[in-house]
Amino acid sequence: MQRLSILFLLICSLATLFLSAESLNNSTDRPEKYFRFQIKSRDELQNITRLISIDNVQGDTVYAYANKRELAEFQKLGKTIEFLTAPGLKYKPRMSESVKGIALWDSYPTYDAYVAMMSQFAKDYPDICRIDSIGASVNGRAILFAKISDNVNSDEAEPEVLYTSTMHGDETTGYVLMLRLIDYLLTNYQSDAQVSNLVDNLEIWINPLANPDGTYYSGDHTVYGATRCNADSVDLNRDFPNPEVDNHTRQPETIAMMNLAERQNFVLSANFHGGAEVVNYPWDCWKWRHADDEWLIWLCRQYAGTVHTYSPSDYMSGFDDGITNGWDWYDIYGGRQDYMTYFQHCREVTIEISDTKLLPEAELTAYWEYNRVALLNYMAAALTGIRGEVRYGSEPLEVQVGIVDHEKDNSWVFSDADLGDYYRLCLPGVYDLEFSNDLFTKVIRQISIEPGNATTVNVFIQSGSRGDINNDGFINITDILRVVNFITGRLTPSDDEFNRSDWNSDNELNIADIIGITQYILNQNP
Ligand SMILES: [Zn+2]
Repeated sequence: MQRLSILFLLICSLATLFLSAESLNNSTDRPEKYFRFQIKSRDELQNITRLISIDNVQGDTVYAYANKRELAEFQKLGKTIEFLTAPGLKYKPRMSESVKGIALWDSYPTYDAYVAMMSQFAKDYPDICRIDSIGASVNGRAILFAKISDNVNSDEAEPEVLYTSTMHGDETTGYVLMLRLIDYLLTNYQSDAQVSNLVDNLEIWINPLANPDGTYYSGDHTVYGATRCNADSVDLNRDFPNPEVDNHTRQPETIAMMNLAERQNFVLSANFHGGAEVVNYPWDCWKWRHADDEWLIWLCRQYAGTVHTYSPSDYMSGFDDGITNGWDWYDIYGGRQDYMTYFQHCREVTIEISDTKLLPEAELTAYWEYNRVALLNYMAAALTGIRGEVRYGSEPLEVQVGIVDHEKDNSWVFSDADLGDYYRLCLPGVYDLEFSNDLFTKVIRQISIEPGNATTVNVFIQSGSRGDINNDGFINITDILRVVNFITGRLTPSDDEFNRSDWNSDNELNIADIIGITQYILNQNP
C-alpha cells in the first residue's frame, strides 16, 4: 500500500512537471508573439523596426516578434496581424544528456550536457583550449567561450577572431555547429594543416550559445519551446549601442559581451543566426556603405561561394547569390554587427545559417558539412591584409591605424595597447597607411598586399616628440616642470631636451613654451 502510494505520488509529480512544461509552451502567456503582416512600401520599416523585432522581410510580407508592450505599440498602427506558431514550438527535437551523446552530432544538448561538453574540451586539450565564462544570463546561466590558440593561456600578438551563435535563442542550428567547430579544431590540430595554421596564428574565441535563457525557455532539459528573446523578453540583437540612437539600459547578456569586446581586440567576427540563409554585412542602421564595402562583399562572397561548393544548389542561394547588405534587407538599430564594427573597430557579419530555425536533429550533420570549410576560410581572412607592431622606443603603443583617404564612420583600427599589434584587413593592392595619436602622425606609403597574404609593417615611433621632454610617450605636468627647471637654471637641458622643450621653435626657452605646452595639455583633457 505504501509502495503504491509512493508510486502514485511519483506519477502525479511527473505528470505535473510534464503538464507545466506543456502548458507553458502552448499557453497564450508566452511573453513573445510571432506574427506576420503586409507593408505597402519599404519606407514603413524605418518606423516599424523601432517598435518591434523584425525577423525577416520577404517581398511585402514582414515576419516579426514582439513582447506584450511592443505588440501594443505596434497594434496602434492598425495593421492586420496574422499570429503564427513560434518557430521554437514547431518541432520537438531529440535531446542528449551526455557529452558522448552530443558528440554524435545528431541531437541537441541539454543545458547541463552543453556545460559539461565545454569543460571537457578544456580538460582534453588544455594546451590549446580554455573555457571562459564572461558572465551570466538573467536567469543565471553561463555565457561560455572556448578560447582556442597555441599557448592558450598567454596573450600573444595574433589577430583575435570571434564567433558567437544563437543570441536569438530559437535559432539553434549555429549552436550545435559551433560546438562541432570547437571539436573539429581541437581534434584536427597538428594533423590538418589548415586547422594547425589557424590555431597557431589566431586567437579564436567561440561562444556557441549567447542567449541560454531563450534557448532553454522550457527548462534545462530541452530546446523545444525556445524563444528569440532573453528572459526579460528583450531581443539581444537590438540591445547594443547604436551609432546614432543610444539611450536605454542593457541586459546582462549584452553587458557581458560588451565587456569582453572592450577587453579583447577583435579584428574579425561572425554572428550566427537562423530563419534565413544569407551572409549579411554592415551597415544594418545606415543606408550608405562601410568604407570597406568592397572588402566586406569579398568576405561574404568567399563564405557563400565556399558553402555553395559543399551544399545542394538551393542552399544559401537567395538574395544576391547568398549575400546581402544589412540595410538593403531591412534596417535594424542596436544590432551587434554594427556595434562590433562601429564601436569596436572590428569587422562583423551576420551569417543566417538555416531557413528552419529549430532544425530537425537528423539534418545537423548535413548543415555542418555545408559550412565546415567556409567557417575555416572565414577565420583565415584575419591572416590577410596589413599587420605589424607599433612601438614607441621599446614599448608597445596604441595608435590609430588607417588607410589614407579611405576611412570613414570609425572604419580605422587601433593597435593593441598591451602588445602593439595591429591588423588592417584589406583586399590585395597598394596602400598608404597612416599611424597617428595625439602626438604624431606617421605615413608609410606604397605597401603592397598579395592575394591571400599579409604584409607586415612594423612601426617604430622615434622617441623625442616635441613637448615630451622626459621621453615617456606622454606630454604632461612632469614635462612642464622640466621646462620650468631649464628656464630658471636649476637644470641644464641637453640639445635634444632643448629642442623638445622649445614648443614654438623660436630657439629660446621661455614662458611662451610653458604656455604652449600647458594649452596643449588642457586641450587634450577637457
Ligand atoms: Zn536571428
